[in-house]
Amino acid sequence: LQTALDKLLENLNDAQREAVLHVDGPLLILAGPGSGKTRVVTHRIAHLLSRGVYASQILALTFTNKAAQEMRRRVENLAPGQRVWVSTFHRFGARLLREHADLVGLGQSFTIYDTSDSRQTLKRVIEAEKIPTMHYTADRIASGISSAKNKLITADEYQPRSSSPLSSVVARVYPAYQQRLLASSAVDFDDLLLHVAKLLKDNPEVRAELDSRFRYVLVDEYQDTNRAQYVILRALSLDYPNLAATGDPDQSIYGWRGADLNNILDFEQDYGQAKVIRLEQNYRSTKAILRAADTLIGHNQRRKKKALFTENDEGQPIRLVTYADQDAEANSIARQIQDAIESGERKASDFAIFYRINALSRSIERALRAHRVPFQMVRGQEFYQRKEIKDVLAYCQLINNPKDDVAFERTVNSPTRGIGKKTLEALGDHAYRYGAPLLEAARESGLIEGLAKRSAAKLSQFVALIDKLTAHAGGPVEEVIGSVISESGYRQRLVDSDDEEDASRLANIEELLTDARQFDEEFEGEAGLEEYLERTWLVNETDNWEDDSDKVTLMTLHAAKGLEFPVVFLVAVEDGILPHERSSMDTQQLEEERRLAFVGITRAEAELQLSLVRLRDFRGQRRMAVPSSFLMEMPTHEMQSDHGSGSLEVDPWEQFDLPPEEEVWVDPNAAPAPEPEPRISAAITTAAELTDQTPRPATTPKASPDDFSLDMTVRHP
Ligand code: ATP
Ligand code: MG
Repeated sequence: LQTALDKLLENLNDAQREAVLHVDGPLLILAGPGSGKTRVVTHRIAHLLSRGVYASQILALTFTNKAAQEMRRRVENLAPGQRVWVSTFHRFGARLLREHADLVGLGQSFTIYDTSDSRQTLKRVIEAEKIPTMHYTADRIASGISSAKNKLITADEYQPRSSSPLSSVVARVYPAYQQRLLASSAVDFDDLLLHVAKLLKDNPEVRAELDSRFRYVLVDEYQDTNRAQYVILRALSLDYPNLAATGDPDQSIYGWRGADLNNILDFEQDYGQAKVIRLEQNYRSTKAILRAADTLIGHNQRRKKKALFTENDEGQPIRLVTYADQDAEANSIARQIQDAIESGERKASDFAIFYRINALSRSIERALRAHRVPFQMVRGQEFYQRKEIKDVLAYCQLINNPKDDVAFERTVNSPTRGIGKKTLEALGDHAYRYGAPLLEAARESGLIEGLAKRSAAKLSQFVALIDKLTAHAGGPVEEVIGSVISESGYRQRLVDSDDEEDASRLANIEELLTDARQFDEEFEGEAGLEEYLERTWLVNETDNWEDDSDKVTLMTLHAAKGLEFPVVFLVAVEDGILPHERSSMDTQQLEEERRLAFVGITRAEAELQLSLVRLRDFRGQRRMAVPSSFLMEMPTHEMQSDHGSGSLEVDPWEQFDLPPEEEVWVDPNAAPAPEPEPRISAAITTAAELTDQTPRPATTPKASPDDFSLDMTVRHP
């Protein structure tokens, strides 16, 4: 046994070993990127197991399914045969909620609404309740509700603020929306955490039971927890305060989803006697990369300074390249990758290309295809979001949860059954009057006021179809979906159509059947329709990312968290993109953008290229791009500055003099786009010379690290 332990502890430095060997009591591992935080989590789990802790007493929480899967795999490697519960917060929430659904007034077979389903519900509520929403869009109202939920403010507790007209709209919509969700036995994503947090707060016996069940709780990426997650973790660590949180405040990038930096910053205060371990050695990146990242993040004021060093080589200088336009940018990147692969120097999976927003991926995809470079784009949800897939899954949802009104509305006339708007309005009114779900109301279609006999009969036929499908819902998921598409006539309609698109819809549905079969095989019949649906509901962006295939990875900066690649390209390092234009008026958001850039840079192991262009097509317009202000905050004098082959010789820095109002926008449709004046500025070749001359955009003086705690004393309101 001793040798097994030795093996577990080799390849760990002293600080890491100390963290891994820690058993009881709260533990905070506060450390920068690439310092082995995630490694410590997996090794610590293995160590706990080796000390005789039961696998069932350990709970490890992460933010993405991919991270959970990876962690599970590593634990399996270190401690073969042990099955520890490693989960995302949302899946964990869903599972707990199924166990205790009645405590929050849900049916056990509740549906988890995705964003579009919950938006649909919200709109229905606003219509039905005739709530005046002023000029606020459903999206604005939804984000108001979401942010309240993330702060753990329930519908009953929500108080409008007199200074915010939006909040008084939210105050009216939120309770009605929540009621409608409950009536449909449905939850939205935020509810998965809110309900669980609330249920733990309101039911001391349940809390105590779960606290004791999960003796050891480990959380990776703790800096991204919101208030609801904080409360859940707190509730599970009262009697057995063996909570181990790992995180890096500088990598907190989910403020827009309610992540609260205070959670990590106040850990020591909240958990008395917490042991705090700092990991200071970075094993991932070259010195050059680490230095750039460190200088950049040093411009954030709301932070604690961390020491981070590496024994890795200095490495190649970071490349900072300006291209004429995005095609030149994309082609150059594709060519560089192609060359490196062809020369045998690297393989495709060594490369990652990051962008701030998905819309920027198109030219890169095109260029990689043209250069025959294999790549994978990480862009989750898409498959399950396709109309035909959502349609078919809606049948399954309705079978699983007959109260699900969104699923009813989606399926009742798809494929068309001649059930029109009028019929549905009458049905909706009837249901609303009696507070019944739509499917329930449709059962009594004969009694519905003002409904023609024919229409009533059609509704009854639909009910009969659902009943028939429900009767056979217990088998393998593939069979359930198979009978849905045949009995409902959905498949036949696509087969009969000679529309090209319907042919591809049909192919997608076949793909769904394959997906279901794989699910059945994976769980060997131990998991049914509900578990399958849950998997489709809780997909993440990175789910489809294959880390074992030899392809270049394309992803957003947000998706890149926690990952690492030998070579990283970060494109469109331009003002308005990174930092995102939304952040221009708000220091806090600007700091989050800076953290996002920091996350991107610190994914790179050996090589990093930052690029920008002179002219960018963006949102249907061609505009002069302005270099990102973040570039001015990095040691560009030590970077290898380059104007990219095939690009115009331009001086990216000169544009700093332009105030944003004077950005030149050219409408490509209006007139032939004027050629940008090619300025051959041969004299200026390196960014270094420029950085020295160019006045820095005004920044407020930096706070000393110690000012920080003062800044943050305001605890959750
Ligand atoms: P991030 O903040 O980006 O999530 P992290 O702190 O979680 O980073 P890890 O991903 O755990 O860092 O580790 C970074 C890399 O360093 C990994 O490839 C890991 O295998 C390696 N590594 C960690 N600790 C050691 C060590 N003691 N010796 C050698 N390599 C190590
Ligand atoms: Mg990590």
